[in-house]
Amino acid sequence: MSTAPHVIVIGAGSLGLCAATSLADQGARVTVLDAQAIASGSTGRSVGVVGTQFTNPLDILLRRHAMACFRKWEGQGLAFHPIGYLRLARTAAQMHLFRQSQPMRAEAGFRSRLYEAHELSQLVPHLDVTGIAGGSFGPDDGFLDPHELCMFLGEKLRVQGGKIHQFCKVEDISRRSGGYRVMTSKGAFEGDMVVNAAGAWAPRIAALFGQALHVRGERHEAVRILLDRPLDYTMPMVMDLVNGEGSGLNFRHDRPCELIAEIHKVDSSGPEDPDAYNDQCDEASKIHLAELLLERLPELPGARLGRGWAGLYPVTADHRPFVGPIDAAEPGLVTAAGAGGYGIQLAPVIGQIAADWALHGAPVSVPGTEGLAPSPARNVAFS
Ligand SMILES: Cc1cc2nc3c(=O)[nH]c(=O)nc-3n(C[C@H](O)[C@H](O)[C@H](O)COP(=O)(O)OP(=O)(O)OC[C@H]3O[C@@H](n4cnc5c(N)ncnc54)[C@H](O)[C@@H]3O)c2cc1C
Repeated sequence: MSTAPHVIVIGAGSLGLCAATSLADQGARVTVLDAQAIASGSTGRSVGVVGTQFTNPLDILLRRHAMACFRKWEGQGLAFHPIGYLRLARTAAQMHLFRQSQPMRAEAGFRSRLYEAHELSQLVPHLDVTGIAGGSFGPDDGFLDPHELCMFLGEKLRVQGGKIHQFCKVEDISRRSGGYRVMTSKGAFEGDMVVNAAGAWAPRIAALFGQALHVRGERHEAVRILLDRPLDYTMPMVMDLVNGEGSGLNFRHDRPCELIAEIHKVDSSGPEDPDAYNDQCDEASKIHLAELLLERLPELPGARLGRGWAGLYPVTADHRPFVGPIDAAEPGLVTAAGAGGYGIQLAPVIGQIAADWALHGAPVSVPGTEGLAPSPARNVAFS
């Protein structure tokens, strides 16, 4: 009989599947349960951008580990489209921050080049740089299809002997000696540990354990921009936001005559019910997005709005993910949730940290990330 620990992962989105494959890599037996289909939550509604142009040591550390996984998986067949990522700076202070943090990015192995405003047309000939001081460009950054990522991870897990049960909703959980009994719409599962990777639903799973978890769904919309003819260059990912300053508008190439645009920053989104939010793009938001796009890309040939959709960023009060146990006295219950608008690009490292907490009681392979645990200091209600 196998003595390997059996870990039940709740949620087959990017975080749950990354945690599952990382657990299996370390020899655990893994069962993933999802109430719906793989990638049917926030993951399937994301725009799949993976970027490295950050200025803070923790953001860079997390991406160093995440990018190493993406590179490895690319070698194993995961499609990654390296169109580059341009982060716009609006002020001289933001440019200074990019300049100051460049050695940290270089140390992490990230190529990063700074551009003055007048040089940005080399990257995006259609860009209007009014109000822009310059930007930081990561030529190796890019995007992937989040569905494909999940299918890739699901297949990897199956090869590793793990199991995925879709349309298998977790309804209750009880503690049993040395482990947990998870009751679902398809029967009971017993495991030694549980990873709660249920995205915007994670607080409901935590409540089944009698724990409070402060993660909420924040609604964001994305829209396709259709063009009359292909551009004669590839539109990189362009993001107008540095440390909360900027409009939050971002856009990127998707297909030859199509861009995708999104607004990363929302002014007001109350907590959304993940089972009952409006998953379509509002007309008013489309107009707002079109206005922002017209400011930044006024001459795009024949650009018009295409289909839009909405999804939820699962966010925490301090906008950092929760990875680790809520209660240090109950280390077998590990949370991996609240990755906000970065839950695709950070999924591999969050999965790795969650697996470490479950199997070793600390994030041993990513030192310096202990503080991501949902400790009483961080797991606080939204003000
Ligand atoms: C419009 C938009 C654009 C985005 N763009 C980007 C981007 O470019 N780059 C980036 O890094 N991130 C992006 N994000 C954020 C990213 O999508 C999320 O952070 C990430 O997908 C969260 O993954 P998750 O696994 O935590 O949650 P989810 O993908 O929501 O997975 C949670 C899973 O738990 C399951 N579940 C819930 N309740 C139960 C239950 N009772 N029993 C069993 N299973 C249950 C759900 O069915 C779901 O499949 C974007 C998000 C949106 C909405």
